[in-house]
This record gives sequence, C-alpha cells and structure tokens, in this order.
Amino acid sequence: DLRTPDALAEAERWTAHNYHPLPVVVAEAEGAWVTDVDGRRYLDFLAGYSALNFGHRHPGLIAAAHAQLDRVTLTSRAFVHDQFGAFCRGLAELCGKELVLPMNTGAEAVETAIKVARKWGYRVKGVADERAEIIVASGNFHGRTTTIVSFSTDPEARAEFGPYTPGFVVVPYGDLEAVRTAITPNTVAVLMEPIQGEAGVLVPPAGFFAGLRELCTERNVLMIADEIQSGLGRTGRTFAIEHEGVVPDMYVLGKALGGGIVPVSAVAADRAVLGVLRPGEHGSTFGGNPLACAVGAEVVRLLATGEFQERSERLGARLHAGLNDLIGKGVVAVRGRGLWAGVDIDPLLMTGRQACERLAERGVLAKDTHGSTIRLAPPLVVTEQDLDHALAQLAEILKN
Ligand code: PLP
Repeated sequence: DLRTPDALAEAERWTAHNYHPLPVVVAEAEGAWVTDVDGRRYLDFLAGYSALNFGHRHPGLIAAAHAQLDRVTLTSRAFVHDQFGAFCRGLAELCGKELVLPMNTGAEAVETAIKVARKWGYRVKGVADERAEIIVASGNFHGRTTTIVSFSTDPEARAEFGPYTPGFVVVPYGDLEAVRTAITPNTVAVLMEPIQGEAGVLVPPAGFFAGLRELCTERNVLMIADEIQSGLGRTGRTFAIEHEGVVPDMYVLGKALGGGIVPVSAVAADRAVLGVLRPGEHGSTFGGNPLACAVGAEVVRLLATGEFQERSERLGARLHAGLNDLIGKGVVAVRGRGLWAGVDIDPLLMTGRQACERLAERGVLAKDTHGSTIRLAPPLVVTEQDLDHALAQLAEILKN
C-alpha cells in the first residue's frame, strides 16, 4: 500500500510515457467523488472523459455487474448468450435504429463505422472498388488507431505514425459549404463529432448539423455522428445531435455505455446500412460479451428514464451560469452544453495544466486540453452543492 509519492514513482518507472497525469493516485470512488491513497477527497470533474456519466460505482450498474460475474462473463460471438439480444434490442430502441453492433473501445467503434460505410459505398451506393472517400472535420478526435490518426489534424496525435490510411478528406469543422464542395460521387460518409470534445468542447454554428443532414440525404452520403463523448446524457439529451433536431444514419457510441465498469462501444444504424456486413467480415473477441451486455443493458435502462438527461440540462444551466460569471475574472470564454464545458483561462494568468494542478490542490479534478483550455465534465449525478463548490475553487485559483 504505497503513499502518493511512491505510487507515482512506481507508475512513472514502469509505464510508457504516453500520458502526463496529474499527481493524484486514486484508491476509491463513489458518485462524483474519489479518494486518493492518502485519504484526500476530490470532486471528479472529468468523469473519465465522460465514461462515468452515471458516477463512480452507480449502485444499479454495480449490481448488474455483480450478478453477471456470478453467471457467465465471456462466450465470444461464436455462440449466443442470454444477455446479448436484450442489450442489442434496448440500445437499438434507445437510438431509434433497427440494428446495433457492439464492440469494446471507442476507436474500435469508429473503425467499425468506417468499415461499414466503405462496404455500404461499394455494395449499395456503387462506388468503384478502392475509391471510397469519407469527409471528416479539422480538429477531430476519433481515437488512436493508425487509420484514425491518419485523418487527425493534430500533429501530436499523427506525426511519425505513418504511412497513413488514404480515403479521408478534411474540411473545417462547422463549415457546411466546405462539406458541399468536398463531396464527390465517391463520398460514402461524413464522420463528425456533434460537439468536438478533445478540441476544447467546440460547439458548431447553429444549423450546421441540420444543413449537413439535408446535404447528406440529397447526395446519398451517410451521416455518421461520433457521440462517444457527447452522447448518453452528457449534453442534456440522449444524443448531442438532438439539439439540432437531427437523426444521423449511424451513431457511434462508447465511454458511458460501459457504465464506467467495462469497455463497451457500439454502432447503431438501420438494416440498409449495418445489414451490409456478412459473417466473417468483421468482429471482436470481447465485443458484446455477457458482462458488457449486462452492464450496457442497465445503462440503457438508466437512460430510458430520462432522469440523467434532465439533470444534465438543469445542472448544466447552473454550471454555465457560474462559469459565465467568471468571464473577465480570469476566464476568457466558455463553451459547451449541459454538464460539459470548455473553459478558456486567460493565458496571461496560467496554462490549462497549471489551472488543473491548482484545482487538484483544492480538491477538484479536471483536465486541460490545448494551451489554456480546461474541460469540465462532472458525473451527471453531481449535486448543486458540489457544482457550487467546484465553481468557488475555480474562482479562487483565478484570483490568486
Ligand atoms: N471518439 C471521440 C469523440 C472521443 O472523445 C474518443 C475518446 O476520447 C474516442 C472516439 C476514442 O475512444 P477510446 O479512447 O475508447 O478508443
């Protein structure tokens, strides 16, 4: 049982340095709070990059996981298990789609969406072999595989990982005319985040996704919404794209779908799209395993109540009001929706990293993105009191 300095040193010594974590060593957690190895408590305002929308160790999710651990945890898709159909049905109904395909990580679900779109392009749209193009946005973040980083515009994520996968066209995020110009007869899909999380919680201009929906329909191009970070209650709706009154052809889901317990991701689409896959063409050993399905089905049940979406909308209004009050007092700009905010700190005061270090010293965990931006995304079970506490700590570090 190591104390913080030794636990940090051990982690530093034995892992690749692909992360630069804050110096906090978590030992336990419940709801919106975590406790470190020295017994210090912190409010978790990152929530596992939105994987913990229902909080740490939500009782219903933990119960579902425990019950499944005592029955069966893995079969592979070589057989069917008794949790599979119910989870897929529940998720498809939540999405309003005919079919789902479960995977594990977000990046895998994005890869699945890309493969399905290409297959659809060749089999249904009639694009010539090897010619399929997918339009993506600048500033995107869809994961870390070699294909996905091939179309990243972030040099840190992309450089020296080539050779890159061809077939992607990058346009400025939120620019409908740029998408229109980029579409060719070979375009099979437009893949975008309804709100760009890693880019700093960027909300596109109002009407962008409504316009994109019309354009995609008109040009017979699939509209794919990567809702891995923005979806499942985070913005006050089940899907962030609902704010635009839009239904994409394919949803890509992950993070909170696993309830913060197991990695669960999925794509959801109608039969005309997802039905293009035939046996042997795609798969995953752990995708849709019994434990994942038992937890995922409970996540779907929690979302079906609408309670978390409502909390996110109501408490999100309080969060954004509090953050907007700090504009001119060390905060330059605030973006976001629901319980999700990108906060630009005055770069003359401190970097985003420094802001997060000072917040951690005051018992609030958040994470910087680029430069002087920090993002706040507490679990949706956070209380008003917790929110006010975190806002007060932010105000304090900006004062001093
Ligand atoms: N897509 C979006 C929008 C994300 O925010 C992320 C993760 O941050 C991913 C995809 C990748 O998910 P994972 O890290 O589970 O592969």
